[in-house]
Amino acid sequence: MTKIQVFLTAIFLCLLPPSMLFAQDTGLVDGTGVTAHIVHEQGTWTVTYHFDRPQKAMFFNRYTGGYRERFWTSLSSGVEIRNIGGFDTILLDTPSTTASFDITAYTTINIPDANPFIPFTDGGLTLFTGQFDLLPALDAADVADLQGDLFRWQGKQPTLGVTFTSDEPVIMEGALIDGTAVHVTFGGGTHIYTGLGRIEEGNSFVGVIDSALPEWLRENLDEEVTAIFAEHEKRWGFELEQRATLLIAFDGYGASGYRNSGSAFGNTLMLQIAGDALRNEDADIMDSMRWFFAHEAAHLYQLTAGLEILSGDSTWMMEGSANAMANQIVASLDGNAVNLAETYDRALTECDAYLQDGPLEGAGKRDAELAYYECGDLVAIITASLLPDHNLHGFLKELALDRREGSTGSWQYFSTMHRLGADPDAIISLADIVYKKLSDPRQAYIDALNEARLYPLVSGDGRIVSINIPLE
Ligand SMILES: [Zn+2]
Repeated sequence: MTKIQVFLTAIFLCLLPPSMLFAQDTGLVDGTGVTAHIVHEQGTWTVTYHFDRPQKAMFFNRYTGGYRERFWTSLSSGVEIRNIGGFDTILLDTPSTTASFDITAYTTINIPDANPFIPFTDGGLTLFTGQFDLLPALDAADVADLQGDLFRWQGKQPTLGVTFTSDEPVIMEGALIDGTAVHVTFGGGTHIYTGLGRIEEGNSFVGVIDSALPEWLRENLDEEVTAIFAEHEKRWGFELEQRATLLIAFDGYGASGYRNSGSAFGNTLMLQIAGDALRNEDADIMDSMRWFFAHEAAHLYQLTAGLEILSGDSTWMMEGSANAMANQIVASLDGNAVNLAETYDRALTECDAYLQDGPLEGAGKRDAELAYYECGDLVAIITASLLPDHNLHGFLKELALDRREGSTGSWQYFSTMHRLGADPDAIISLADIVYKKLSDPRQAYIDALNEARLYPLVSGDGRIVSINIPLE
């Protein structure tokens, strides 16, 4: 079975209490430096910006293709949008704290991180709030000096507030919004759905699944997503405090094969799928979707368990354990432990490639972020196997408690393993494959798997053909 995996970084965002108000005098959502008020009415879209100080130039740090220059029209005199070296820039003749635009919901391109708008067949669409993020500049020449390179910019990024009002139903962050949706982000964003699509509600999620999705997929998805959340709930031993939002848009049968792209922001999981392979029921496609939801849902439970935002060097803890949990859940739902050997054979091969130039911890600095997923996955199954109760979920809950005591370095991971009774020598071997540059990463990971009694059976051509991971 070939699995198509979608690797994404979940960006965990602070949620605002629903009672939050924005100051009427400045037009700013509390605590933000830039607020965008978006109104969707009778099919038209407008955005009105408020800045916390008068500005002459503000540029967009997302989507350098110049889409706003083409699709946004200024409604304020003395204000224009011009693409400068890739950055769409709002230019104001005289310094001002407001600017308004008529915008066209731009849905026709695929942008790697998150499309600004994603259409649903029923006429609804999602709006990605991160597209409204702005950075201040002195003037047009100042933006030109960046030569399209964000790293040249020196300044303080304002927190972005977005308010959204629509004459159609709105779903944001697991809830149907009554009135105006308010979202605050610092460098992230979320997908907000508006439209007349049928809203699906489960215990753990609320969502909109495109009505044109092929029937076999649609039927199964509803059930599968419910089953995935139930699996997580059973393993973690608690429910999510807040339901997840699931948004699944169908982009038709036009493309050949199967295509998907997805993102997870906060508790919102967005998936856009397309392709002629979807015409017939396909077990691999189903598995790849299950895997996406199981992985992203793992982050929601990690966060609820108290594992605060972990980024940078220690990402292997979060991504690795999310991968391990997703693999288990997909294998369990399939009732097929054999798939795990294939999954971990691929993980080992990819991990080996990412660790050729340096250790797992800090791999992101070498542009080898995927090591956090693949090697991190192997580290997670080794961890579970070394614990007396073999319980990865229980371990992460204990780790969250220990980190709350104030020790947040990644070494705390190993210290918690020790406290829970894992063998000290095995912990040292595991720490070695996380922190050290390995001369033969593949062999070092095979040795660590053996030490953890996972006993991978390696064939003559170096492939894992079986591994001793019991299905939970
Ligand atoms: Zn992830």
